[in-house]
Amino acid sequence: MVPFESIMSATVLDGKKIGRLIEEELHNRIISLQSKGVSPHLAVVIVGDDPASHVYVRNKEMACERCGIQSTRIDLEEGISEQEILDTVHRLNSDDSVHGILVQSPLPDGINESLVTDAISPEKDVDGFHKMNLGRLVQGDASGLLPCTPAGVMKILELSNIDVSGKNALIIGRSRIVGMPMSILLAQRGIDATVTIAHSRTENLSEICRRADLVVAAIGRPEFVKSDWIKPGSTVIDVGINRIIDSSRKSGYRLVGDVESGASDIAENITPVPGGVGPMTIAMLMSNTIMATEIQSQ
Ligand code: NDP
Repeated sequence: MVPFESIMSATVLDGKKIGRLIEEELHNRIISLQSKGVSPHLAVVIVGDDPASHVYVRNKEMACERCGIQSTRIDLEEGISEQEILDTVHRLNSDDSVHGILVQSPLPDGINESLVTDAISPEKDVDGFHKMNLGRLVQGDASGLLPCTPAGVMKILELSNIDVSGKNALIIGRSRIVGMPMSILLAQRGIDATVTIAHSRTENLSEICRRADLVVAAIGRPEFVKSDWIKPGSTVIDVGINRIIDSSRKSGYRLVGDVESGASDIAENITPVPGGVGPMTIAMLMSNTIMATEIQSQ
């Protein structure tokens, strides 16, 4: 007979389903804007030929089509100068028909991403990376334009009724776009998690992980977090998107997360890769675009 423990499996937090619900909930706000003659419009700037970036941008365009948001894509060549990228951003800033601006990362080597991000008007910064938007969050106000991936994780937790108040939350990764804002959102008043941020210098990561009620893995290394690091009954949010060569697939690759697949036998809740945090990130981008449009048409 199979022991009971070995057939336990985590609840899969379906980001695709939750993301579509969020997109549908934007419908009335879009209709209301359109009734005032305002058509929400997202401009996406992509530099170079990185295949993964092109897939992400296409997914964002498709989400705009689903939601009824106008999208414009601006393709810039790999060798373009920083100044030319900044000029493009300035042009979009002063175009009143554009409500949201996103510059797809990563940018080519030698381009200062922070400089480009901070050139976007804060009220058009739908990625939520501008220092004014991040600064507001650090001051304890999460009502503005938030970085899409951490905001998407918060929505998954909220809509799945996962209460992290007083719980140990471990975030692995301290990037500007995922780990760091994630830690602030989880520690804010009203959410009240007890947050630990781990990074490449962290010692005894496996031990810290075994005490975590919530693990958010944002590292960028395939299956880095091992199943036996996971606390039974915990929630695991796998942000990682890693391409693994797989010649049996037509595409030649498959996507895996930062967490070993066996973690789903131990955790209580887990996000899949793909179909977890990725679609939530896109749904939050749509939500930010509508918020930005509303702010600009007040
Ligand atoms: P970064 O490379 O900017 O950050 C990675 C973080 O992981 C760094 O803080 C780094 O530490 C830490 N790290 C690296 N090695 C270790 C280690 N051995 N032990 C502990 N920590 C380590 O990545 P991003 O935050 O941009 O992205 C992380 C992952 O999330 C990627 O797979 C990316 O593709 C994915 N992603 C997914 C999104 C989605 O929508 N699902 C959106 C954005 C990203 P240190 O700071 O010390 O270098």
